[in-house]
Amino acid sequence: MPVHMRNLIAGNWIEASGRATFEIRDPATDEPVASVPLCGATEAVLAVDAAAEAAAGWRQRPALERSSIVRRWGDLVLAHTNELADVLTREQGKPLAEARGEIAYAASFLAGAADLAPHFGGDVIPGPAASKHIFVLRPPVGVVAAITPWNFPAAMITRKLGPALAVGCTAVVKPAEQAPLTGLALARLAGEAGVPAGVLNAITGDAAAIGRAWLGDARVRKLSFTGSTAVGRVLIRQAAEHITRLSLELGGLAPFVVFEDADLAAAVRGAMLAKFRNAGQTCICPNRFYVQRSIYEEFLGRLHHALGELRLGHGLDAGVTTGPLIDDDAVAKVRMHIADARDRGASLRKGGDFVRPSATLSGRFCTPTLLSGLTPEMAIAREETFGPVAAVGIFDDEAEAFALANASPYGLAAYAYTRDLARAMRAAEAIEAGIVGINDGGVSTAVAPFGGLKESGWGREGGRWALEAYTDVKYVSIA
Ligand code: ADP
Repeated sequence: MPVHMRNLIAGNWIEASGRATFEIRDPATDEPVASVPLCGATEAVLAVDAAAEAAAGWRQRPALERSSIVRRWGDLVLAHTNELADVLTREQGKPLAEARGEIAYAASFLAGAADLAPHFGGDVIPGPAASKHIFVLRPPVGVVAAITPWNFPAAMITRKLGPALAVGCTAVVKPAEQAPLTGLALARLAGEAGVPAGVLNAITGDAAAIGRAWLGDARVRKLSFTGSTAVGRVLIRQAAEHITRLSLELGGLAPFVVFEDADLAAAVRGAMLAKFRNAGQTCICPNRFYVQRSIYEEFLGRLHHALGELRLGHGLDAGVTTGPLIDDDAVAKVRMHIADARDRGASLRKGGDFVRPSATLSGRFCTPTLLSGLTPEMAIAREETFGPVAAVGIFDDEAEAFALANASPYGLAAYAYTRDLARAMRAAEAIEAGIVGINDGGVSTAVAPFGGLKESGWGREGGRWALEAYTDVKYVSIA
């Protein structure tokens, strides 16, 4: 039975004006899971009113008190892992085991921010004259807006709001329209943990109208966004109005480079984790595999074999490793990338179809796909695919590998496999990406600075970098 979940403004669970709603469907079955309010500019402004009203009280709370509330929020998230993971799988499609992993990952951002914030402060530095003292303060920026994507409906919210709240900001958040239910459930738990009314406000609805209202409001001092580079560009233009500071985690196009001296079993394990988790729908997914000529066929053979272990199906069913793509636009894009690669000479080694794994399931399941003969002009080498498709090309030497890896306007994540320490260090330095996994396909962790170079965005999330991002730098000169 589909349920209705309301939005949170100033501690009240509200409807959109006119009681407009929209439906969330299970991407695996197409069945309605729930409906949520279809908010627009009116509610966006009301949410900012609430966050602005709550700002003074929250920033005056001692850091230890704020942190203990954020920590309690994280504990409650963990205590509700089963329910949250169930909702997450229904609205987003990822297998339940991955959804549970995401809930733990989401909670780790809350615990991490709660650990760090009480120790996070400014500096006292020697003044330019004996009679002067300089204090550097780190006050919270004020009201923060967060706009999050559907592929990690829990973690992208806590990664932003944990540190923002812990350092004393108040927040308005808009989860993605495809998968907002987990985010609303997290907002409810924040209230149970003691986050006061108005400190965290969550609305769903018309993304463009809400984004425009928030960036058109001078009270919003910062926007943290995770999503596409195209929308990131729109937000940069809108942020010009009030010089709103931005953190942007945008598209990626990660290269995955395998040198002939690599541990091939480890490289294949890393490739499976990085590429096929969440049905290939993560922004740090490798989109382009480059393998040295002497091991090219062996790597393809091993990856082909590993793909045989994947099981398509509903994420709630036992043994399923690969769920559906999020929606029909995603299906069309993945189909186009596979067809384009084949038209341009790639060989389809495995998969390449869309299927209904059973009669009750939708046709959004892409069979795990392996393409060889990747070349730079293929769409899959130039744009994020966001599907379970590994496209593999050849290189001859290190210089060519680094040139291929860097032949992209994006620079979020990159992976390199080699047993040669000097080469590993050269790869770490040469590859233009904010995140480089050397012999590591699982690079996500709350303690590290997550973010990209080039058109993959601005700013870092995680660890102390997240706390810095939600604070101003102010110096006080005392004579
Ligand atoms: P994806 O391709 O992953 O769906 P999007 O950039 O379209 O990435 O979406 C990421 C988030 O940005 C979602 O919450 C979406 O609703 C929101 N969004 C989309 N368009 C706009 C816009 N014009 N202004 C503000 N937010 C937007």
